[in-house]
Amino acid sequence: MTDYSAVRLQSPWRKDFPALTHLREHNQTYLDSAATSQKPQAMIDNLRDYYQQGAANVHRGQYWRADTVTAAFERSREQVARWLGASAEQIVFTRGTTEALNLLAYQLESHVQPDDEIVISALEHHANLLPWQQLAQRRQARLVVLPLTAEGRLDEQAAHALITERTRILAISQLSNVLGVQLPIKALIQRAKSFGAWTVVDGAQGAVHLPETPESLGCDFYALSAHKLYGPEGIGALYGRAEAFEALTPWQFGGEMVEQAQYQKAQFRAMPMALEAGTPAIGPALGWAASLSYLQDQDLTAIAQHEHALLQQLLAGFARRPHIQLLAKPDHALASFIVSGCHSHDVSQLLSEQGVSLRSGRHCAHPLFQALGHPSALRVSLALYNDSDDLQHFFCALDNALELLQ
Ligand code: PLP
Repeated sequence: MTDYSAVRLQSPWRKDFPALTHLREHNQTYLDSAATSQKPQAMIDNLRDYYQQGAANVHRGQYWRADTVTAAFERSREQVARWLGASAEQIVFTRGTTEALNLLAYQLESHVQPDDEIVISALEHHANLLPWQQLAQRRQARLVVLPLTAEGRLDEQAAHALITERTRILAISQLSNVLGVQLPIKALIQRAKSFGAWTVVDGAQGAVHLPETPESLGCDFYALSAHKLYGPEGIGALYGRAEAFEALTPWQFGGEMVEQAQYQKAQFRAMPMALEAGTPAIGPALGWAASLSYLQDQDLTAIAQHEHALLQQLLAGFARRPHIQLLAKPDHALASFIVSGCHSHDVSQLLSEQGVSLRSGRHCAHPLFQALGHPSALRVSLALYNDSDDLQHFFCALDNALELLQ
């Protein structure tokens, strides 16, 4: 195994993200990419060009700019599809992961009967907990929670036993935003499908760091957000298998999603386009496609290796500090930790005063923290643009903070 602790890791991608230069000029180190990512120049240029060259609505105008923008918007859908190893007809744009999961929790409602079971895991983000919790309450169904082992990994044996013929929906994360552990979801999806259940993957973190595609996972639906994937806020996507989309009905009504409307009745576009109502986030869709196109021009294996090496360096730094306790040993890109005897917010306040940006709190996963028995934790999250200097700044600041607090 390579020992990364003494290697000075530099990021060849850092120069493509102007915010990183600006932040370093202000002695700021950004270690919160799991919350939202910084953006490549390619995306910034694309957004500027779109607005400078003329905004236009899509799929309705018959003039030159409307045509070119509509074509660019549909190319963005193809770009998202390519990132997911899917085809454009399998992608609908949403506002993000949260909206995609809420859409599903409403539109799968008629498939859930009293006493059916909806299965999630113990480490879900609120976005993949609350929509299903509320659906279970509306339908008098049961929300079944797959437990974790003491090491913070999914308890696979228990999970298999809890996915049964009563399972109607399995909704599960690919990569935990708190523990950084990758979930073995392929086998769970297979099992749930063998009982005829719907399978939904929260890919908000996984779509950024993992090469798995929805098709390779075998799921019915897969949700992701652009802003975590180096794109703009306000847009994301829902992938669906064609037959899975066919099982849904429209959820928002208005322009775009309708074929023919009369005062008393209407006919809607075929699925999945009937799920896109109103003017979409056009600029953000174009910008997201520019970010994805930038990423696709890079060596994705080299990016994965860089993130892996940085994570090992981070873990080695933690291991040298006896007061640090990791919540779990992460697989990818982030690590959550507590400092014995200190409140996370006090530590993060002292880190912030020294120019380090990271998250402290319960990371939108309150029940997980209850299960782990910790009030909160700090989280360092990494991206392709981070380097060893970022980690050095972080550990220097952490040591100063610990000296003050202990
Ligand atoms: N799921 C996971 C695992 C996340 O990390 C997040 C955001 O942090 C979400 C869902 C929600 O994403 P968004 O707020 O972009 O809808």
